[in-house]
Amino acid sequence: MDLNTIAEVVRRPPEPPGELWRSGDAWLAGGTWLFSEPQPQLNRLVDLAPLGWDTLAVTDAGLEIGAMCTIRELAAFAPPPEWVAGSLLRTSCEAFLASFKVWNSATVGGNICMSLPAGPMITLTVALQASYTLWGTDGSERVVDALDFVTGNHENVLKRGEILRRVTIPIDALRKRVTHRRFTLTHLGRSTIFMIGTQRLGSTDLLLTVTAGTTRPIRMRFDSMPDADTLQQSMDAIPSGHWFDDPNGTPAHRRHLAEFYAEEIRFELAAGEPS
Ligand SMILES: Cc1cc2nc3c(=O)[nH]c(=O)nc-3n(C[C@H](O)[C@H](O)[C@H](O)COP(=O)(O)OP(=O)(O)OC[C@H]3O[C@@H](n4cnc5c(N)ncnc54)[C@H](O)[C@@H]3O)c2cc1C
Repeated sequence: MDLNTIAEVVRRPPEPPGELWRSGDAWLAGGTWLFSEPQPQLNRLVDLAPLGWDTLAVTDAGLEIGAMCTIRELAAFAPPPEWVAGSLLRTSCEAFLASFKVWNSATVGGNICMSLPAGPMITLTVALQASYTLWGTDGSERVVDALDFVTGNHENVLKRGEILRRVTIPIDALRKRVTHRRFTLTHLGRSTIFMIGTQRLGSTDLLLTVTAGTTRPIRMRFDSMPDADTLQQSMDAIPSGHWFDDPNGTPAHRRHLAEFYAEEIRFELAAGEPS
């Protein structure tokens, strides 16, 4: 779509680009959302692509994902075999309602900053206990827990002009056993609910993440595997206002799916079935 209020596109921003920020700007990542609907409040785009940030880096501490890493690049990444949870990287990429354009151009950072309930990069990074590094317009840097970043449908903790620079997934989370459940109304459709359960190797704990069905991610931690009733009580405790309502599912449908899948995830991880 032509954005007819845009008077300028900055193709060579400085590093860090925050000093450039002014009202009416938007950081341009893959552009798959920015160019998909009118943006009358914007008059300038600042392209982050020319900054050439690293896409994926394996370190002793885990995985670093540059915000401009595309979904295609993440899906093509082959994680080390000892990362039992590594399969979730590709699974989450495939959880997009993705056209060719979205698959090839959308970025991990753009998906997180969009902060839609069905943002699969949010699901992935909350379930794997990631942190986000943010750059302020004044040159400051802060790190936030992925769980705390999205605060509602298309809402997050970013301050005006703040940039998501990188996502860090800790090695301990990448070595966990995992299982997931996802429901869509149509084949390859947008997620109605996307849930991930993880468990430390040799442990009986459970970390259960609920997304897409709720307006913000919800994560429950159990030091040992709960019984079915205890888990259902925890699901019941999710406030009714948190369940998302859109054409992909009513709040009641999403709650029903979440309770059903929570028990399946509990049963699967408790039974010690392979990830
Ligand atoms: C056909 C189609 C299907 C889609 N399916 C889904 C889906 O299933 N789930 C879903 O969540 N979304 C979906 N989207 C919406 C969108 O395309 C994705 O969320 C995509 O991941 C956005 O990434 P992008 O890199 O293209 O972001 P852009 O469109 O470039 O930017 C999105 C927003 O984030 C801001 N931004 C981008 N990067 C940064 C950064 N590093 N720091 C700070 N702000 C930043 C931009 O300024 C803008 O406000 C879909 C869109 C289309 C057109």
